[in-house]
Amino acid sequence: MAVATDEQKAICEMVRQFADEQIIPSAEHYDHEDSFPEPIVEQMKELGLFGVTIPEEYGGMGLDLTTYAMIVEELSRGWISISGIVNTHFIGSYLLMKFGTEEQKDHYLPKMASGQLRAAFSLSEPECGSDVQAIKTTARRLDDGDYEINGQKMWVTNGLLSGVVFVLTKTDPSADPKYKGMTCFICDKEPGAAENDGLTVPPKIKKLGYKGVESTELVFDGYRRPAESILGGEQHGLGQGFVQMMDALEVGRVNVAARGVGIAQRALELALKYSQERKAFGKQIAQHQAIQFKLADMATQVDAARLMTLRAAELKDAGERSDLEAGMAKLFASEAGRFCVEESFRIHGGYGYSKEYEIERLYRDAPLLLIGEGTSEIQRMVIGRKLLQRHKL
Ligand SMILES: Cc1cc2nc3c(=O)[nH]c(=O)nc-3n(C[C@H](O)[C@H](O)[C@H](O)COP(=O)(O)OP(=O)(O)OC[C@H]3O[C@@H](n4cnc5c(N)ncnc54)[C@H](O)[C@@H]3O)c2cc1C
Repeated sequence: MAVATDEQKAICEMVRQFADEQIIPSAEHYDHEDSFPEPIVEQMKELGLFGVTIPEEYGGMGLDLTTYAMIVEELSRGWISISGIVNTHFIGSYLLMKFGTEEQKDHYLPKMASGQLRAAFSLSEPECGSDVQAIKTTARRLDDGDYEINGQKMWVTNGLLSGVVFVLTKTDPSADPKYKGMTCFICDKEPGAAENDGLTVPPKIKKLGYKGVESTELVFDGYRRPAESILGGEQHGLGQGFVQMMDALEVGRVNVAARGVGIAQRALELALKYSQERKAFGKQIAQHQAIQFKLADMATQVDAARLMTLRAAELKDAGERSDLEAGMAKLFASEAGRFCVEESFRIHGGYGYSKEYEIERLYRDAPLLLIGEGTSEIQRMVIGRKLLQRHKL
């Protein structure tokens, strides 16, 4: 793994300060109210954080995946909901940058780089998440050349406040293999509006954690899109949706891994602080060996997760194959997040159960990372398959 460049160090320092001063002090308020952290998002726009990986010609910073992963770690250390607002936007911009037509890039990327337009992506449905090829949402070509989308989507992060959603549909439900009949549509919507000419956004889903950022269903009922809104255009994009989305999820895994590192790092910091403040049996609890062992295991997990995440990002940036490494980083770092949060929670004793302590929020937030963008079980399947591909007898 390469040493961080001066530019990367400066950007991380800036984002860490932003997290310390703006995110951490107000996260409790937005989490308890389950309200959208608008002022924080406005500042993120000013810092250019919505355009980190978007090329400079479109108004972004043009930075690589490695630097992006470092930024996500810092944001997630503050509050994973903040990194969630950026995450789906990052996947949307990746899809456009890699597969979009020139017209699509020119139309969307400048507004996305500034954060004026925020993106979501939507694969999951009420009856399927892991089994993406089982989706039922259809897009049917009409006589006038437009497509009509019908179906129901589930768990769309930023589903209400986003202005554009990358939606996976079936354009040929009888295709064999199934993935060849899947197409991704770029769907415009009015940010914040529940009704959008054939697209309804029901009230947000009530969740255990990951509050502040909304998760919603999307109900498509006769929602029309022109053929030009197929990602990559009708000629090149029809039937390519599954491949495009899986490619984006591979970089998304590095992103989720970075979120795991961030939440694990924060849990460690809270444990180091609390264990030196709290006394039991006449000394700081940090002086009890059982607590030191917990701290040692946590710090080791944080370091290993960070190194794996950065390695996967660097391989991708170097144009090398990184599917196996990204899957392993996502699996390890999300589990490290859960592990460190639980150990820190235990170190906090009864106070860990109180809403007055930050660890209580982390305890509710961490499990999401085990599920989103591929559960740990699915990661193991991906890793196993890739291992066998690389080591075929
Ligand atoms: C807060 C939140 C935000 C989300 N945001 C988005 C979003 O923005 N866009 C989006 O498209 N989706 C989103 N999701 C959906 C998420 O990607 C899915 O929940 C996830 O992929 C799992 O799918 P599922 O919930 O349908 O579980 P299922 O696929 O039904 O799985 C249930 C259980 O079975 C296991 N399982 C399934 N198949 C296998 C198998 N073959 N072998 C072994 N075990 C298996 C799973 O690991 C899991 O433990 C979000 C989810 C949450 C909770």
